[in-house]
Amino acid sequence: MRHDHLTPQFVEFIPEVMEQGVLYVSEKYHVANHLCACGCGEQTVTHFNCLQGWGYSREGDLVTLDPSIGNHQMPCRSHYYIQRNAIVWL
Ligand SMILES: [Zn+2]
Repeated sequence: MRHDHLTPQFVEFIPEVMEQGVLYVSEKYHVANHLCACGCGEQTVTHFNCLQGWGYSREGDLVTLDPSIGNHQMPCRSHYYIQRNAIVWL
């Protein structure tokens, strides 16, 4: 099932078992993980540097990741942005 938004969960450590539709964000370790929004279940890892304002911004519970998520190495070849929790498909 293709998702059109993700629900952020702010964690210290990314859990081993992740749920579909959840964006796990560890601001401490500067990483955001989620399962590919197309529903294929592939794990997607985004590294960012919030200290330098690169790759990640947060307004309350709304998370924006920049650059885009490109899963070109995966069979589904999904490509999308996460903007204020919403999946913007390219
Ligand atoms: Zn996928």
